[in-house]
Amino acid sequence: MPIYEYLCDKCKHRFELMQRIDEEPPKTCPRCRGRVHKVISPAAFVLKGTGWYATDYAGKGKKDTTQEKKLEEKTDSSKST
Ligand SMILES: [Zn+2]
Repeated sequence: MPIYEYLCDKCKHRFELMQRIDEEPPKTCPRCRGRVHKVISPAAFVLKGTGWYATDYAGKGKKDTTQEKKLEEKTDSSKST
């Protein structure tokens, strides 16, 4: 069975799911029940350009962006200490 990768639009949770080709893809995130979209493959994702992703990110998830920045800061400070 092929493994599909999904990314949550809301909390940016990334997960893999083993599915049959004719199986219905999940529509909601197992973590926050936000909307998920399929990540075709890492290579295709990069080739498409980060453009649409960055726009999407900036437009929709202002809350998420702040949260993630805070997380990054935390990780950074814990690393340096
Ligand atoms: Zn989520």
